[in-house]
Amino acid sequence: MTDCIFCRIIQRGIPCHKIYEDREYLAFLDIHPHAQGHTVVIPKKHAETLSELKDRQGLGDAIQNTMARIQDVLHPEGFNVGWNEQEAGGQAVPHLHVHIMPRWKNDGGGSMHSIIKNPGSMSVEEVARLF
Ligand code: 5GP
Ligand code: ZN
Repeated sequence: MTDCIFCRIIQRGIPCHKIYEDREYLAFLDIHPHAQGHTVVIPKKHAETLSELKDRQGLGDAIQNTMARIQDVLHPEGFNVGWNEQEAGGQAVPHLHVHIMPRWKNDGGGSMHSIIKNPGSMSVEEVARLF
């Protein structure tokens, strides 16, 4: 997609600081990092969400290889890995991108659990019965 900023990065129309690349994925430093070495992994084929991504078998390897590269260079003590999906999930760029945030003890950050604390009115058992 020509109006997609991440597609333009893949087509090298916009520069990026590449961390890892294979045939189907590219990983580069986030321009507004929330941690030292904050990186995003994106599929080279445009897809807005994970379910839109047709061939996703290589995604896990791309994430792991990117994390290994960051580990070798920056030696973090941990990671948060995940993605914001759709507007309600905080997605600003509509091209799937997995955030890799290197973490250090006492870096002032929280865990995934700090994203939201709004469990709703149904009990866990009531939710379970819906499945
Ligand atoms: P989202 O909220 O969609 O999950 O996050 C989008 C991320 O993409 C943000 O962290 C933002 O800093 C990053 N970003 C947006 N535009 C660019 C860009 O042109 N280059 C790079 N490297 N990162 C970008
Ligand atoms: Zn795109």
